[in-house]
Amino acid sequence: MEEYEKYKEAGKIARDALHIGMKNIKEGRGYKEIAEKIEAYILDRASLAFPVNISVNSTAAHYTPSMHDENVFKKGDVVKLDVGAHVDGYIGDTAKTVEVGTKNYSRLIEAAEKALEEAIKIIRDGVRIEEIGKKIEDKIKEYGYNPIRNLHGHSLERYKLHAGISIPNYCSKSKKRLKEGQTVAIEPFVTDGVGMVIDGGIGNIYRIEKDSPVLKQIKNRFNGFPFAERWLYDIYGESTPLKLSFFLKRRMVAPYFKLVEMKGGMVAQAEHTLYITEDGCEVLTA
Ligand code: MN
Ligand code: MN
Repeated sequence: MEEYEKYKEAGKIARDALHIGMKNIKEGRGYKEIAEKIEAYILDRASLAFPVNISVNSTAAHYTPSMHDENVFKKGDVVKLDVGAHVDGYIGDTAKTVEVGTKNYSRLIEAAEKALEEAIKIIRDGVRIEEIGKKIEDKIKEYGYNPIRNLHGHSLERYKLHAGISIPNYCSKSKKRLKEGQTVAIEPFVTDGVGMVIDGGIGNIYRIEKDSPVLKQIKNRFNGFPFAERWLYDIYGESTPLKLSFFLKRRMVAPYFKLVEMKGGMVAQAEHTLYITEDGCEVLTA
């Protein structure tokens, strides 16, 4: 398979996994059950590029259920589901937002989706990063909301989820251009708060911080990608909490903290992975 075919395959699997998750989010269902359902779907067909993120209300990103998670979806929750699959290191990264049983935030959710659509319309070989940000910001402002300024889209490369190019959701004055053949994830975050996220405590997602022979199993199993506390139980069983705190204390492993809106604003997100062509882009997760 060519690189492009692998991206296509990963994109399709991520899209379908996300769809399954969205369908299953209902009042009273557990976060953990949904995350495991999505991850099982991906693992049957490809590999996981990161733990399923289930970020609710003013949490924008970086929460995955823990092994003993007891959270259930409640009526009125605004749920961001963010899913990543990879085929031989080539990643599909996609997210959507759903409201559980109510329609109080339909416009917020729509603003994120429309901002993403506007960006997709102008992305092609040579597009400037600031133009993308401006399109996104203008659309979000049109709805009367704010983009989250410290959460960005990003380029993707083999085994690299955030591969170096950052694509802000506002007009950043970046004259840098995207090129044909690049793969990028565009992900507007919209809020009725101020538009900044801050660390909000444990999110149960981790990364290898310092290479060590002790981490060999983690490294081999997750290919250097972010991993969930839950996943470590396959390696360490019931001694997972002890192992994890050992790794954290020695700074061999670092946490991704849950990211919450600074003023407690509600947050919606939409994300697609795109392959840039000479005269446009192909949405790999559509
Ligand atoms: Mn994502
Ligand atoms: Mn992303």
